Amino acid sequence: MPERDAPAALVRATLEGPAPAALLDEGLRIVCVNEPWKRFAESGGARADHPSWAVGASYLDAISSPLRAWYERALRGLLGSREAWHHDYDCSTPELERSFRLTAYPQTEPERGLLLVHTCRVERPHPHAGEPVEAYRDADGLVHVCMHCRRTQRLDHSGWDWVPSAVEARRASHGLCQPCSVHYFGVP
Ligand SMILES: [Zn+2]
Repeated sequence: MPERDAPAALVRATLEGPAPAALLDEGLRIVCVNEPWKRFAESGGARADHPSWAVGASYLDAISSPLRAWYERALRGLLGSREAWHHDYDCSTPELERSFRLTAYPQTEPERGLLLVHTCRVERPHPHAGEPVEAYRDADGLVHVCMHCRRTQRLDHSGWDWVPSAVEARRASHGLCQPCSVHYFGVP
């Protein structure tokens, strides 16, 4: 991959700051990431991003479908614009309720690209004591977890609940819950 010109001063300052940040080229490939980004991904925080810090790797390759198509459309639509874009998402762990904001700043100089920054919005001990995950396992022993909001589907399909231990359940299938599906794809 050919070397690019040094990022502009604002980009450089962001990459040297404390927030996880990455610079993408117009093909949505990684130009560089900072150390906080690597730590964030390694902690499982950026569930869609691991291990996407290799220079030249496609940022989209680390995002599972069906969210990948949504991210690709959103990010490609930003290239060449001058508007920053924000997307809030949940990335709770069994112990912590966490919410982050992904902000994408379109770049035009020296080349088109995007500067991505993750900002923590909420991080606190989870208010729920937590239901046992066993109550959510289907006949095959799987729990069904929404890959976006991390809620778990009830066995009778009557709704989705926050089940802390399901976030790290080994036997899980990942899809989208109905509210996330409606929000992202307009599919009820
Ligand atoms: Zn969801």
